[in-house]
Amino acid sequence: MAITILEHPLASDLLTVLRDRNTAPPEFRQIAERLGYLLVAEALADMPVDEVEIETPLEHTTGTQLRRPVVAVAVLRAGLGLLHSVLTLVPDAAIGFAGVQRNEETAEPMEYYTRFPELSAARVLILEPMLATGGSLSWAVDKVKENGAKDIVSVCVVAAPEGVGRMEHDHPDVRIVAATLDRELNQHFYIAPGLGDMGDRLFGTL
Ligand code: URA
Repeated sequence: MAITILEHPLASDLLTVLRDRNTAPPEFRQIAERLGYLLVAEALADMPVDEVEIETPLEHTTGTQLRRPVVAVAVLRAGLGLLHSVLTLVPDAAIGFAGVQRNEETAEPMEYYTRFPELSAARVLILEPMLATGGSLSWAVDKVKENGAKDIVSVCVVAAPEGVGRMEHDHPDVRIVAATLDRELNQHFYIAPGLGDMGDRLFGTL
């Protein structure tokens, strides 16, 4: 399994704002969306393209088009914070949802809702901003594979070594793109230094 960490000063700048506890939800959502553009661009960096013939105002030339389809699967709730980034860059991407809640005692995933578009021919981007234990992501990848997905990239903001290890074990074929690989999980299964609860930071819940 490959993990790509965005090594870009802009990504680091945006991540710093997300980490700051004083960043309130309106700004947090905007910055998450902007960081999402960089993450999604990297997650599509190895996409195949098709040549297309076009006319510029000056002459005939050959361009390229990203090969479709692209599907984004938002792992609820926090994955919604990256959904706009995908839809801005690839407006015709189809969207799926993986509703999973983590059991606060065991940190294991509990499913409550899933809905997917056609996955078998698509590049499937799983939007899971906080890769903590890896339980939710591994579960979401199981689900999309059961529904035919073969070409899967996981888009994360913060990854923890524990989650990366779990994905290496469970799904070595899935590439992870993240803005940072943080130090560790704490005893409450939060990523440290991290940015707190991504869903709460996005939506202002307590
Ligand atoms: N989910 C979050 O939102 N934050 C963490 O630190 C871990 C899991």
